[in-house]
Amino acid sequence: MRVLVVEDETRLASALQRGLRAEGFAVDVARDGVAGLRMARESGYAAVVLDVMLPGLSGYRVCEALRAEGNWVPVLMLSAKDGEYDQADGLDVGADDYLIKPFSWVVLVARLRALLRRGTPARPATLTAGDLVLDPASHQVTRSGDPVALTAREYAVLECLLRRAGEVVSKTDLLRHVWDGHADGDPNVVEVYVGYLRRKIDAPYGRRAVQTVRGAGYRLDPDGG
Ligand code: CA
Repeated sequence: MRVLVVEDETRLASALQRGLRAEGFAVDVARDGVAGLRMARESGYAAVVLDVMLPGLSGYRVCEALRAEGNWVPVLMLSAKDGEYDQADGLDVGADDYLIKPFSWVVLVARLRALLRRGTPARPATLTAGDLVLDPASHQVTRSGDPVALTAREYAVLECLLRRAGEVVSKTDLLRHVWDGHADGDPNVVEVYVGYLRRKIDAPYGRRAVQTVRGAGYRLDPDGG
């Protein structure tokens, strides 16, 4: 299985290449974002390990460009930054998983294997619940055909709920997926963002797509409320 590593730090790139080869992967390395994007486009990699801070083109832009082209190769993002906004950014641009440097080798290999097991999903072009539509490629959300402007965090909450439409999603799950557990463990922040979301996608349309399941979490009505 061939994996592309896009990393400009020479020592880390070499360590990743050596380590992943020892795990049985074939590994190519790109040292900047432009080369990384070109290689990811041209070759059928099983997965891409993508640094965020890269010369030429950031990892965010590389991932965004791939997704916009309909390329859903599994992407594991690496970042030295640990701000919660960066986490949301990484997920928003279509990364499948995210690791903060420094990371443990065991964790990296485990997460990469998990991505590979999942494979390149046949993702729908859009996520829908009735007339509520989220397009992961263009990052646009519409309700009844109207574009709805969401912040990165609101978008991530909605995407998480839409991907599991009809299921109860706990606040803990939302914290983990959207905040990567970085919100000081305070589930109240989830309530706040769900409130913002309702004011944008539900209230103006007289709908109730985002339902509170008392004591359990939230459920997005697959029919759109
Ligand atoms: Ca870097």
